Amino acid sequence: MAETNDFKVIIAGGSIIGLTLANALERAGIDYLLLEKRQIAPNLGASISLLSHNSRVYEQLGVIDQFNAATVPLLNRLHFTQDGYLFEDGGVLRGLSRSFRFMERRFHLETLYNNLQDKSKVHSNVGVQSFEENASGVTVFATNGERYEGSILVGADGAHSTIRQLLSEAVADTDPVRAENLRSPFTASYRSIFATSRNTNLGTQRPFMPDGTVNVAYHRGVSGVAASGVEGLVFWFLFVKNDEITRTPDCPRYSEKDAEAAIEQFGHLNLGADYTFRDLWNSKTLAAMFPMEEGVLKAPWNNGGRVVLLGDSVSKTTVNAGIGGNTHVEGVCHFMNGLVGLVKQNHAPSTKEITEMFNGYETKQRPRSELILKLSAFVTRYEAMETWWLRLLMPVMRLLPDGLVSTLLGKHFAAAPLFDFLPKPNP
Ligand SMILES: Cc1cc2nc3c(=O)[nH]c(=O)nc-3n(C[C@H](O)[C@H](O)[C@H](O)COP(=O)(O)OP(=O)(O)OC[C@H]3O[C@@H](n4cnc5c(N)ncnc54)[C@H](O)[C@@H]3O)c2cc1C
Repeated sequence: MAETNDFKVIIAGGSIIGLTLANALERAGIDYLLLEKRQIAPNLGASISLLSHNSRVYEQLGVIDQFNAATVPLLNRLHFTQDGYLFEDGGVLRGLSRSFRFMERRFHLETLYNNLQDKSKVHSNVGVQSFEENASGVTVFATNGERYEGSILVGADGAHSTIRQLLSEAVADTDPVRAENLRSPFTASYRSIFATSRNTNLGTQRPFMPDGTVNVAYHRGVSGVAASGVEGLVFWFLFVKNDEITRTPDCPRYSEKDAEAAIEQFGHLNLGADYTFRDLWNSKTLAAMFPMEEGVLKAPWNNGGRVVLLGDSVSKTTVNAGIGGNTHVEGVCHFMNGLVGLVKQNHAPSTKEITEMFNGYETKQRPRSELILKLSAFVTRYEAMETWWLRLLMPVMRLLPDGLVSTLLGKHFAAAPLFDFLPKPNP
């Protein structure tokens, strides 16, 4: 599309959401500038899933063939009790309209970055420090000493968002309750190791699991997920319930020693039928530990002006269900559909029109984010067998027919948005 030069989006953050948004803006022909405070696509050993509905979104952006070529569809999901007993051989994943994928996060981000035609609009190692706003636009002050002019500022800068913190400081005197929610919207009741390992158990010299498999292990206060979504690799997680609940931004920052201590304590537990967390740890290429923050920022997700938040800066879910980031991609679709509609009518919309568009995105996205928050919270606590009633629920849950679960998931995915301004992909 031809570019509308007089409207410009400044994006803070160049991860899953910032780069997805950059691709969508480029396709829509809307000018943008992306500032990422670190390098693009750092290798932290993290992984990311791709669910059916977003497979269609990434088809619209032209990257789905690359995602599919680099991954193996995950079709088998096996659930193990704390004794290593296989109690459910879930066929849920086989019932989805498009296959469930899991890939290295670095690869996901590199692919999105490489897909951009004009890379001069992405500035790495440049963070947003502050901004000023007037009736016609925003001025962003960056860590490189430069100032950048734009029409709106999007905070896609993660759970510890600088933009959200700046919005908090801006209302600290006039609305301390709102300021506190912006400063501290999430809590953490669990912590997790995330890691990538080679798919070879060094003890037995056999693969941990065949490619295209997910294993889930249920212990008391502890659970685990492993997925062989890329040939030769296993992406895995150890989830541990904390003794106390902490709040963003004061959740602990865990070190390598903390991860080692968790393996010391829980490494003997099984994740699959014939391997333990320690076996996976011994085959790891990269691993880290982080607090699993959860929550949805109270309304509004904008400042009543030209600044709006997207992605982890507005909502965080626990990782077990592997759906938090995917839900934010829906938010990018809702946001972009509103923005394209607005800018098509008027290349210089007023602040009032912009705020209304921001509110429209939130009205559509908030219920889905809140639902996924609850679903993820339930899955985390259920898999960790947190209470006696969750333990009682286990035999009931396994009686649920796979077809029913696939249908419910399918309905949720079918209601997800696409980019209205791009050709519709196949179902
Ligand atoms: C271990 C782990 C595994 C996960 N697995 C899955 C999964 O399988 N499926 C799923 O759907 N979701 C998953 N999630 C959730 C998903 O990763 C997040 O929801 C997603 O990364 C959010 O993307 P984001 O772009 O909003 O934020 P982030 O990925 O946190 O990125 C924010 C970016 O902003 C940058 N930044 C920060 N401050 C500034 C600043 N001042 N100026 C400029 N840039 C700045 C940061 O450097 C970073 O690159 C997982 C999360 C974790 C922690």
